[in-house]
Amino acid sequence: MKTEALYDKDPFAKNFVSRVISCEEVKEGDSKLFKVTLASTLFFPEQGGQSSDIGTLDNTEVVDVQIEDGIIYHYCTSGFLVGEMVQGDIDWEHRFNNMQQHTGEHIFTGIAHNIYGAENVGFHLSDNTVTLDLDIELDEEQVRELEYKANLVIAKDVTVRAYYPQESVLETLDYRSKKEIDGDVRIVEIEGTDMCACCAPHVRTTGQVGLLKVVSFGKYKGGTRIAILCGLRALADYNRRMDILQTTYQSLNCKEEEIPEKVQGLLDDKKQLEYSISEIKAKGLMEQIEKFPEDIIDVTIFTEDVDAKNMRDGVNALVEKHSGLCAIFSGDDEEGYNFVIGSSTRDCAAITTGLRELLGAKGGGSKQMAQGSVMATRNEIERVL
Ligand SMILES: [Zn+2]
Repeated sequence: MKTEALYDKDPFAKNFVSRVISCEEVKEGDSKLFKVTLASTLFFPEQGGQSSDIGTLDNTEVVDVQIEDGIIYHYCTSGFLVGEMVQGDIDWEHRFNNMQQHTGEHIFTGIAHNIYGAENVGFHLSDNTVTLDLDIELDEEQVRELEYKANLVIAKDVTVRAYYPQESVLETLDYRSKKEIDGDVRIVEIEGTDMCACCAPHVRTTGQVGLLKVVSFGKYKGGTRIAILCGLRALADYNRRMDILQTTYQSLNCKEEEIPEKVQGLLDDKKQLEYSISEIKAKGLMEQIEKFPEDIIDVTIFTEDVDAKNMRDGVNALVEKHSGLCAIFSGDDEEGYNFVIGSSTRDCAAITTGLRELLGAKGGGSKQMAQGSVMATRNEIERVL
């Protein structure tokens, strides 16, 4: 026997009393739950992309609600006797929040359908996200226009009505539908804006949606995926973003509107500092190079944070004074080393091949100069050289 769906008739009802039809213990991973069916219920099951209502049956938690062939299954943390009467209370905050999001989605998609002929090819409403997929590509200007028009419909506070028209009437209606539906078709009509086949509970007037904000959008499977937030969720998101902004301008010690300029200034300063540091390092490296007595044939220097250009300059300076292998390794034992080697008498390409074969180094070059990187410790490198 199909469960009577009370949410269908009164989306604003918060509690109900019904008779237990069946109760079966089920395993859900490590925990056990009870799968309960009732004669009637206010709990909206997961369907059409929307997650289920939550709440309680007597003092038992309802953690999930599913529907199969018209029978609604409540997954509860404890069980009931068949035939007993139970009181159900849905988590109203959760439900109302979902109704705001879902009605907002109808308004947005309805307008996209009216203006661009877009069809909704996907919808996802969970506790964290609301996304809708349209089958056409939209650019930023178009998305902002739809967002603005959706908020005009919200401000107009027009009626949202859900009903089952007779088949003869249904045939005359021009409504959006994701697929052919068996049995009675429930129409959700937003006065003057949209008509859509949908089984979910909705708010009574568009004003109850409060606000619709597009938070992101992008190309998706040849169309557009749009993430929206409505009503209280939009408010919570606004507050979250304000907190981020506030923390940022307080730590930057500036006004909110000065943040972009301030951040750009910091990035420029960082670049300048990095340049200065690299100049100092290069100078230090050159001083180190000058200190090596000319009679030393092979010179290998291990250093840190010297860039490739300064390493090449360093090796060129070494090669002028020393006839053997001149090498600079920059890095540390944990992260590995970048290296440049040069020589007027020895084959640097061959030495790099040796480093590659023995230590898995990457890189290459000519007989006179080679460069690369190696994931090895200083000891291992010195042994190979
Ligand atoms: Zn819907």
